[in-house]
Amino acid sequence: MTKQTHAFQAEVKQILHLVTHSLYSNKEIFLRELVSNASDACDKLRFEALDNAALFEDQPNLEVRISFDEEAKTLTISDNGIGMSADEAASHLGTIAKSGTREFMAKLEGDQKKDAQLIGQFGVGFYSGFIVADRITVETRRAGLPADQAVRWSSEGTGEYELENITKPGRGTDVILHLREGEEEFLKTWRVKSTVAKYSDHISLPILMKKETWDAENAKQVITDEWEPVNKASALWSRSKSEVTQEQYEEFYKQISHDSEAPLAYTHNRVEGRSEYTQLLYIPQKAPFDLWNRDKRGGVKLYVKRVFIMDDAEALMPVYLRFVKGVIDSADLPLNVSRELLQESRDVKAIREGSTKRVLGMLESLANSEDAAEKQKYADFWKDFGQVLKEGIGEDHANQERLAKLFRFASTHADENVSLADYVSRAKEGQDVIYYITADSLAAAKHSPQLEIFRKKGIEVLLLVDRVDEWMLSHLYEFEGKQLQSVAKGAVDLGKLQDEDEKKKAEEVAESLKPLIDKLKESLKDRAKDVRVTTRLVDSPACIVVEEGDVSGHLARLLKQAGQ
Ligand code: ADP
Ligand code: MG
Repeated sequence: MTKQTHAFQAEVKQILHLVTHSLYSNKEIFLRELVSNASDACDKLRFEALDNAALFEDQPNLEVRISFDEEAKTLTISDNGIGMSADEAASHLGTIAKSGTREFMAKLEGDQKKDAQLIGQFGVGFYSGFIVADRITVETRRAGLPADQAVRWSSEGTGEYELENITKPGRGTDVILHLREGEEEFLKTWRVKSTVAKYSDHISLPILMKKETWDAENAKQVITDEWEPVNKASALWSRSKSEVTQEQYEEFYKQISHDSEAPLAYTHNRVEGRSEYTQLLYIPQKAPFDLWNRDKRGGVKLYVKRVFIMDDAEALMPVYLRFVKGVIDSADLPLNVSRELLQESRDVKAIREGSTKRVLGMLESLANSEDAAEKQKYADFWKDFGQVLKEGIGEDHANQERLAKLFRFASTHADENVSLADYVSRAKEGQDVIYYITADSLAAAKHSPQLEIFRKKGIEVLLLVDRVDEWMLSHLYEFEGKQLQSVAKGAVDLGKLQDEDEKKKAEEVAESLKPLIDKLKESLKDRAKDVRVTTRLVDSPACIVVEEGDVSGHLARLLKQAGQ
């Protein structure tokens, strides 16, 4: 193949522009991204080599090397991982294939400030090299292909890139950054080393740089030909808790989640017993842009005995916890496990149950904390993720009770953060049900005439205004022995909460109004099932209710909107 010039896909151009213009203030992240790609490439090789050991050629030790050339002003990140064929280089470094990224692009508004915040939510990846480089050359050979079928990809990061065929004896990829004027700091060992230590210490492969020594005669540092590791090279989750600092946990989270903020909470455990595994799980502070996509795969990576198996292993977490990020490293699963096998595996079932409990535990300790700041953290979490957590009530029967305790609602008592336990603790003497009303908005709920009698009597009513609430109610019938009851359904029997006098009076009134009621029934006979005298209203003359067991008015409207 002779040298060919190709145009970048339009989205790539957009990303390139954005990355180079809005991320400059945090430019050193390019090293994190490129080292992470090198490490991914080694993970992929190790995985493919499970079936084909010949891919290791004569180099079974996977590693990343970082070097620079002061004269040429280049910084090079090399790996001996899987490499890329010419087709792969063109598609991976010239187009954006991932659907998540496309969705992301659709969200960008052209407002640099907002976009720069959003950009943290997806991998800035390879293109971040252009923050500091005005040309990037990639020389790569796919493992298994002969030396003369390697390829050189090169671009200035504007509209196009070039591809040509080269010979490369070593397997894997060299990413050569031609540094922009003014970026010479990345030609200093200490600068590169400290950045790698900051962002990539948890990477499980050795990252090597050439050793420097002090030349006393000339009183300066000189670079030797000897390579030395600059990271610990042990996977973060395989270390014991006491060896990992909070900062390292947070940095690892940012790397795997592409989030620019620290996590809300994390848990790190080695589990032994029926099934043996290590879990390192994080809850983000803010919902990602694609939280509502239930088809989105989970955020948990699966490893088997430190070998990376797959990203986004959705079988490891229930769908309603799809916002959880992290790593599970199993000691029991076979290395060649597939997504299909995962769905059926008993070990995976045990891992999923154990991990679900851990996540709920993290949330409970925030929600039940005595510490006001922690409680606030839970309230913020609920705002972003509450609707997703509610999905769990139908999905995860085993944890229904724990989930219900984590739920927060608005009520006639407070606009937010009312737990079912709060409600029950404030219930009136003799009140054996939990009253609620569903509506499209808080304002609509609050102004419903159905609430009048409850207000008058000072009985709290939950105001359920999320779209998922109707669905949730079809799975959540009771809490601590108290049934959930709609105030808009049936006759509203206030039971013991109504005194005898009131009851009698109501019966007398009903009797005296019988002729009127009969007339109304007759004239509304095609439109109303029944007409009756009610005690539920205080100020309004009349209201519409649905029969016990019927679809609620609110749900009927939702179904109609959905075209059913
Ligand atoms: P991501 O890593 O999130 O997939 P990147 O922009 O960082 O996105 O990289 C895009 C793709 O380019 C990778 O998915 C991978 O297929 C390929 N790639 C990048 N760097 C390397 C490398 N060092 N070795 C092999 N493939 C690479
Ligand atoms: Mg990447």
